[in-house]
Amino acid sequence: MSENTNINVVPAQEEGSTKKSLNFIEEMVEKDLQEGKNGGRIQTRFPPEPNGYLHIGHAKAIALDFGIAKKYGGVCNLRMDDTNPQKEDTEYVEAIKRDIEWLGFKWGKLLYASDYFQQLWDLAVELIKEGKAYVDEQSAEEIARQKGTPTQAGQNSPYRDRPVEESLALFEQMNSGTMEPGKMVLRAKIDMASPNMHFRDPIMYRVLNMPHWRTGNKWNAYPMYDYTHGQCDYWEGVTHSLCTLEFVSHRPLYDLFVDWAKIAGGDDKPLDDNRPRQTEFNKLNLTHILLSKRNLLMLVKEGVVSGWDDPRMPTISGFRRRGYSPESIVKFIDKIGYTTFDALNEMALLESAAREDLNGRATRVSVVLNPVKLILTNYPEGQVEMMTAQNNPERPKDGTHEIAFSRELWIERDDFMEDAPKKFFRLGPGKEVRLKNGYIIKCPETNCCKKDADGNIVEIYAEYDPDTRSGLPGADRKIKGKTLHWVSCDHCVEAEVRNYDRLWLVENPRDEVAAYSKQQGKDRIDIDDMRKYLNPHSLEVVKAYGEQWLTNCKPLDYLQFQRIGYYNVDPESMPDHLVFNRTVGLKS
Ligand code: ATP
Ligand code: MG
Repeated sequence: MSENTNINVVPAQEEGSTKKSLNFIEEMVEKDLQEGKNGGRIQTRFPPEPNGYLHIGHAKAIALDFGIAKKYGGVCNLRMDDTNPQKEDTEYVEAIKRDIEWLGFKWGKLLYASDYFQQLWDLAVELIKEGKAYVDEQSAEEIARQKGTPTQAGQNSPYRDRPVEESLALFEQMNSGTMEPGKMVLRAKIDMASPNMHFRDPIMYRVLNMPHWRTGNKWNAYPMYDYTHGQCDYWEGVTHSLCTLEFVSHRPLYDLFVDWAKIAGGDDKPLDDNRPRQTEFNKLNLTHILLSKRNLLMLVKEGVVSGWDDPRMPTISGFRRRGYSPESIVKFIDKIGYTTFDALNEMALLESAAREDLNGRATRVSVVLNPVKLILTNYPEGQVEMMTAQNNPERPKDGTHEIAFSRELWIERDDFMEDAPKKFFRLGPGKEVRLKNGYIIKCPETNCCKKDADGNIVEIYAEYDPDTRSGLPGADRKIKGKTLHWVSCDHCVEAEVRNYDRLWLVENPRDEVAAYSKQQGKDRIDIDDMRKYLNPHSLEVVKAYGEQWLTNCKPLDYLQFQRIGYYNVDPESMPDHLVFNRTVGLKS
């Protein structure tokens, strides 16, 4: 489906007013309830195809489908749209369930489109008998050639008016396992001159001759999306079928198939108010990321990323491993809202939502990423003091933990300058700073560091002021210098720190990669097209020193490396091999 390419970037500052009004879908639902449609019931569904992991775009659909059901006392079912056995896998089903639960939503029933294969087949047979469907023996190319254009009517297939018995017999053969895929399809007989291209005798069934992981060898012919979705909604009792804007032009066909299902079912209650109604909203689209499971699968298969949950992936599992909380994702989606036109939202807005959320959640710790040794020359050798560090100053109830202080410390190399300018408020000759949760220290005017043969600084010297221990009365004497973080050389642990950056070099990879691919004469983007736009520095691995307390961390714990950024404990992290992923820096 071609999508709108002239889309506006919504600036990050537009963070919306605080008072929330109803979105257009909530307004519609409230009106439907007032009018007593569907007997006052609300039922939605989230219908992923299990052909990949869910991405942040799906989170937008999830928040809406589940959110509407919850808000209006209804139910939202999870329905796997599993009509393409060649691309689907149980690994994806499990991942989808895990991600929805992690986001904090609960489905009513877990259903599958394949639950309805028999019913769909029976309906198709009925429609053939009613003269509403026929088996077409033309090739896909021939059918495409006859399709016409939006301004030019298509041509009827020579098989369009074949006898019902012939179609019925061939339809059986399509499912026999002996029919070659592509030899014939079942088509709905609608109108080859319709201005809506979806009405030009759409394909209902095709032959795949392939087992399905749920139905085994029972089926060889499988139903198409358009012929499946509306009827599943209808049979299930869905009242509001919410989907994205590319389905606007499919809606009349959705309605027609539901009408046909109703009539064939012999149900004579009026359908008007008792049908599922499809409503479309805008897809989530963010700067600097590329969605679409097909493309994400390519990145995984080609080893560009470590897997579907690589912290650079825009998947829900990627964001989880990156250190985003589910609350921050849901809050962000709520903030950008639902409209009926495409837009491109700034990634910076999601990052700022993460920062705001993590500020209240993350435990403050001390980690030195680029260490250089600091020796406090007047601090007694062998002495160790346990200093108290607040876990989160934003949340005093989170308590404190201890950090060991001693004569030799690691500090950041950048926090020292030998010929520091006046405005450099960190360490340098004669400069004074506070060590976080420690003491005020001062470098001597001369001989304040030692260098190796290549001129690299290997040691920095300073004296501590014993009267300034943090937390003691009178300790907070005013100084010009900043407060620096540190760890004790003899009481720290080594850690692998993975600093992630954007995976894509351009703001709108979806359009830019597609344009490049088109230039190369291709009709779908491939991995070579993608590689042109990938950021070669999207992952930098650093060996760092962290305070000992970090060995207590559990996977997915939220941390703030003081003065550096928000980090998360990687699921593969172990007490003897700590691994941390950078979520976001402290500032944009
Ligand atoms: P993709 O193109 O990434 O594979 P899809 O639309 O094929 O996505 P489905 O599994 O078919 O993925 O989608 C399940 C639901 O999620 C659908 O209702 C679909 O409209 C919705 N959805 C998919 N992408 C987005 C998005 N970027 N923003 C909002 N909703 C989305
Ligand atoms: Mg899809």
